[in-house]
Amino acid sequence: MDPIQEKLLIYQALLSATSSLALGNTPDDVLRAACNALASLSSHICLAWMYLGNPEREVIRPSYAAGVAAEYVQSLSIDRSPEAMKGPARRSLAANMPVVVDVESDASFHIWREQAAFFGLKEGLTLPIGDHEMEQRGLIVIFSRTARYFEQVGIEPFFAFTQLASVGLDQARMRMKLEEMSTIDPTTRLLNRAAMQEFFTRMHAQSKRAARHFSLLLLDLDRFKLINDNYGHETGDKMLRGVSDLFGRLLRRSDWVGRWGGEEFLAILPDTGEREAMQIAEQLRSGVEQLRIDFNGREIQTTVSIGVASCPRDGDSPEILLRAADAALYEAKKTGRNRIVVAMEQHEIHSIIRKIDSAIAAGRLVPAYQPIVDLKTGVQVAEEALARLIDEQGNVLPAADFIQAASELQLTHLIDFQIIKRTMGHCVANTHGGITNRLHFVNLSADILLHQEIIQALFDEARQACEQCGIAGGPQKPMVIEITERQFMGDMEAVKSKLAPFLDFGMRLAIDDFGSGYSSFRYLAELPVSYLKIEGTLVQQIHDKRVQKILRRISNIAHDLDLITIAEYVEDEATANRLRDLEIDWAQGYYFGRPELAG
Ligand code: GH3
Ligand code: MG
Ligand code: MG
Repeated sequence: MDPIQEKLLIYQALLSATSSLALGNTPDDVLRAACNALASLSSHICLAWMYLGNPEREVIRPSYAAGVAAEYVQSLSIDRSPEAMKGPARRSLAANMPVVVDVESDASFHIWREQAAFFGLKEGLTLPIGDHEMEQRGLIVIFSRTARYFEQVGIEPFFAFTQLASVGLDQARMRMKLEEMSTIDPTTRLLNRAAMQEFFTRMHAQSKRAARHFSLLLLDLDRFKLINDNYGHETGDKMLRGVSDLFGRLLRRSDWVGRWGGEEFLAILPDTGEREAMQIAEQLRSGVEQLRIDFNGREIQTTVSIGVASCPRDGDSPEILLRAADAALYEAKKTGRNRIVVAMEQHEIHSIIRKIDSAIAAGRLVPAYQPIVDLKTGVQVAEEALARLIDEQGNVLPAADFIQAASELQLTHLIDFQIIKRTMGHCVANTHGGITNRLHFVNLSADILLHQEIIQALFDEARQACEQCGIAGGPQKPMVIEITERQFMGDMEAVKSKLAPFLDFGMRLAIDDFGSGYSSFRYLAELPVSYLKIEGTLVQQIHDKRVQKILRRISNIAHDLDLITIAEYVEDEATANRLRDLEIDWAQGYYFGRPELAG
């Protein structure tokens, strides 16, 4: 044997064998491939065997062997006896270094000598693969049938090869781990977080390239902990499965949904803008609300809060989009749960909040007064105070631009307070200016019921104002409080008791937007109402015969109950005439006058 020649041959063969290592799917595959490559390197090598496991805990038994002398390993086992511990395999693993043994002369090999000699093995080389840290370590042992073979060729090429095998082993391990971490969540059978994350990143990159939009919904079950606490974890799991199935049914084929965390879900809606995403979110929200899960014959239900974000509007990266959806979800939780918040709306809401705050502080939240006219005489009998916000640039914003946001953040009581207080001042000024007998209608939102201190402050203001005009003792006061049935619905007792001081003081009550809800008559029966303001959209449809019939009925009932009816949104003479024919008492609207800021 020419050692130089042999060395070259081995290098080349090993080099071409390395590619087979990368093909292994499992650690076992990798070591097998390495064994096969080593056993067929050269006619001088007659055996390569492998072991994969935890040698500290078990007897080493070859799991695979290749080469003409493969039979040698059939009964081979290397236990943890003191003698076996001294043998080359155990020494090699302990030191994590290759060890060369001469079969004939090496003292540490005497246990296996006879058997090895029988198969014509002359020299052995142990090659540990992987390191101590690993749960599973590999070992490959090769034998030559030529004496002093490894000594002459050198162990470097083999060592280099096992280094590569170690890398292959690592990769195979990683691959297995990834596969173990399968993409499906076992409880809900939805995609799991890792899979959704992966999909989301790809979706985002694709959409960016193609300049297409998409939306995401982050959904979190409300008070889910209570379901676990009250009915047990299994029922909780059942609920999670029920909700997952529901999402699967309600979402479109192109949508993706996954379990994002414990009771949190992520849905990705390709080619969907925020408006459509809102509609889909609403379907999911109401679907969950209607879902029933059985618990020993009882029906358990839950609700879900949803944050919506859209790409590219709410962010340019997956992280930012997720944060936007998360912030919206948080907002949905904070403002009462079982609701949907759109990320953008939230920015708007916050900027509106800042606007309201600074407007209140700077006295730029003011009433505009719209005249209310007696339809029979054409004389102005009252006015309604409507909130206006004057921004820093001096623009006058109508209530519609900020009341909704204020109401979502439960800040309307602050607005009500400002407007009512100023209206009282206006009322005093009117009286002192000679305009008496004019009623002042102000709006009160349900939010006020939660703020006893504001109610008290308003009451104090009212008393002072009336004292200034010398009417504090009189039975009737010129202020009328408007409440909307929609807002106060279901809280009749609270409304009654909170408003009692005002009514006892002589203020009167008006129902606003009458005809827009469905429990209106209950209000009329239970609250001491004096005025009925008919919903504006009904008034706008007055040319419709059916609407006329409705209005006539309302008017009849109101008169039976001694209520004064007021029509809103009266924009032309024809409407005013019709209303008069229907015996509606008073009216307001652009035809009689727009809301005007006090001079
Ligand atoms: P919130 O409305 O604020 O979201 O209240 P919540 O109780 O839903 O939220 P919280 O995050 O406090 O609690 C989540 C609960 O979800 C606690 C946890 O035990 C439960 N949970 C998480 N994963 C699972 C699961 O796989 N199965 C079951 N049954 N419960 C789970
Ligand atoms: Mg949660
Ligand atoms: Mg929750």
